[in-house]
This record gives sequence, structure tokens and C-alpha cells, in this order.
Amino acid sequence: MTDYGFETRAIHAGQEPDPRTGAVVPAIYATSTYKQDGVGGLREGYEYSRSANPTRTALEECLASLEGGPAALAFASGLAAEDTLLRALTSPGDHVVIPDDAYGGTFRLFDKVETRWGLAYDAAAVADVDAVRAAIRPGSTKIVWVETPTNPLLGIADIAALAEVAHEAGALLVVDNTFASPYLQQPLALGADVVVHSTTKYAGGHSDVVGGALVVGDEALEEPLRFHQNAMGAVAGPFDAWLVLRGLKTLGIRMERHCDNAEAVVAFLQGRPEVAEVIYPGLVEHPGHAVAARQMRRFGGMVSFRMTAGEQAALGVVEHTELFTLAESLGGVESLIEHPGRMTHASAAGSPLEVPSDLIRVSVGIETGDDLVADLERAFERYARG
Ligand SMILES: *Cc1c(COP(=O)(O)O)cnc(C)c1O
Repeated sequence: MTDYGFETRAIHAGQEPDPRTGAVVPAIYATSTYKQDGVGGLREGYEYSRSANPTRTALEECLASLEGGPAALAFASGLAAEDTLLRALTSPGDHVVIPDDAYGGTFRLFDKVETRWGLAYDAAAVADVDAVRAAIRPGSTKIVWVETPTNPLLGIADIAALAEVAHEAGALLVVDNTFASPYLQQPLALGADVVVHSTTKYAGGHSDVVGGALVVGDEALEEPLRFHQNAMGAVAGPFDAWLVLRGLKTLGIRMERHCDNAEAVVAFLQGRPEVAEVIYPGLVEHPGHAVAARQMRRFGGMVSFRMTAGEQAALGVVEHTELFTLAESLGGVESLIEHPGRMTHASAAGSPLEVPSDLIRVSVGIETGDDLVADLERAFERYARG
């Protein structure tokens, strides 16, 4: 499979027509257990569905192929994947460096849960390689954790440079690749050790499933993660695995369209006096543009912008769109709009992760691009009229 292109692997990796019936699409193996041919006589290793399930195996093989790693593991959610990774690879007394604008749920996991079990963390601006280096505690830092682009300010981390910084300190580089998806960015090829996904977002792509995944760059990491996946049990169920597997088949063409539409939205916003600043890594004035251009195929479907007239204007606009649905989450075929300060990032208020109150974040979907631009234009006018 490795010789094939991305879209071919997205459709075929881990999946073959069923040898008995010829069914083209992998079955949803809704089974908890498997008949043994004599005690211990497992067929292809299947024993109990927490340990392994054929639908989940198909998804894991497909994800591994798309990220270019030897193995992937699928979980019940992105946070379940993160928790399993942390408990597998760190111990009480260890330290991790996390992004100072990490996904809110990731920050909460570190701050409210993992610290209770003895894991210490420091937050650093991952766009600043020196800041990350300075946050490392030699000897006790086991993981440098990076998101790129970040949420909601779309900061860009230099994956190759941070891999070097982490490895010099004897730490692993973990990259949350949820915002870019493996179609736009391949962190393992740039030196990352583990890729994290919330498959809820672009991988699933249809806002109909919650899931997560880990992809390892080094085979030696598979064994401890596999052990903890089974021992902790936060696995993806067969139907959820199937939905993500189906979503992945169209990831390439969806991402192209997400990027086309995001570029149209950015061009519209840049011409509007109501907008003080458009934040998109595809813009040459974005501070991470050069790095993003080096490590991403295109710049993604997420756009953030700040309203000239402040928080009330931001709240007004998010309540006056029709096609852009006012909702949290991202990465689905439908466009979403939100106010991070009051919604996804409300829990960061008063912390170093607080976001500007005049900020709007949109997840640009794959509808007709002109309709999306017109919807934003109408929302600006409706809000202005009150
Ligand atoms: C949504 C998200 C997560 C958490 O994933 P869940 O599937 O919601 O548990 C982690 N990282 C990023 C960047 C996300 O957007």
C-alpha cells in the first residue's frame, strides 16, 4: 500500500473485499467475543473486542497508512486517546511541556486530571522554539506536546525544529494533528514520535461520531500503547470505527474543498471594515506562514477573525448567520461559527490560555463557497441593523 497515493490509501488501506461474500465495504463487527478453535485457538488473534475488533483493526490500519506510521490505535474519543498516551508513557514526577493555547479539553485533562496523578506541566508558546526549549526540565520532561495549527488562534509550530529540541532533551514529540488532518500535514515524517487525533473532526468529517486515535512513528511505542489501550479500555466501538473509516475515504477531496472555501471566506473578511484582523496561516502576514507553507500542503478550513467593534459585535455576528451553525466542534462538512471566549474557551478565562473577547472562529464547511460568503455578509448587515 505504501506506494499508492493518499486518496488510494484512504479508500483501500486496511480494507479488502470480504473473502466469504465479496462485500466491498468492511463489516461492522458488532461482537464482543470470538469462537476459539480449541482453547487458545484464536482466528487472526481475535479474542475479545476490548483487545481487538476487525472493524477497529481496519480503521487502525487505514490511519497508520495515512499518517505514514507503523501502527495506529483507535479510541472512544480524542481525550481518551490522550489520557491513554499519557498514562502509558509517563509516571508520577514526570513533566510535560504543553501549548499555551492548547485545545481546552486537552488543557483541562492536564490541569485537572493528570496533575492529580503526579504529572507536572508547563505551558509554552509552541510557535516559539526557544520558549519551548526554555520550558523543558532536563531529566524530567518526557513529552513535548504540540498542536499546529492551534485553536482558536491558529498559531503554527515548527514540527521539525521542535522534534530536535525534544529529542535533545530525551523527550518525545507528540503532535495533535486534528486541525490539519493527515492530508495536509504529516508530523511523523517531520520527526514527531506520536500523532494524536480527535477523529471527531476532519477524519470522521460528518459531525456524526466522537472518536480519537494515536499513530506511532516508532514500532517500539506500539507495545506500551496497545497494552494500555486494552488495560484501560477506552476503545472505539465497531460502529464508531466504521463511521470514521467511511469518513476517511473522502478526506482528501473534503480537505481541498475546505481549503478552497476557507480562502474565499478569508478574501471576503479581509475586505470588510467590520473586521479588524483575519487570522489564517495562508496569509503572508501570518507570523507562522513560512513554516506552515513548508510543512502543510494547504492551510486548512479553520479561520478566526476579530471584530473591530469588540465583543458585542462578535456575539451579534455569531447569532445572525443562517448557514454557519452556531455550535462548538469543527471539521465537519457543514460550516460552524462560534465565539471562543464564551464557548469553546470559556474555561480558559483568567488563565494564560484566555482568548480575545472580540474573536470569532469559523469551521468552513464544504457547501457552495459563494453561499458561505453571502451568509457572512448578511450576518454583518443584520447585526449592523440590530
Ligand atoms: C476536539 C479536539 C480534541 C479532543 O477530542 P474529543 O474527540 O472531543 O475527545 C483534542 N484536540 C483537538 C485539537 C481537538 O479539536
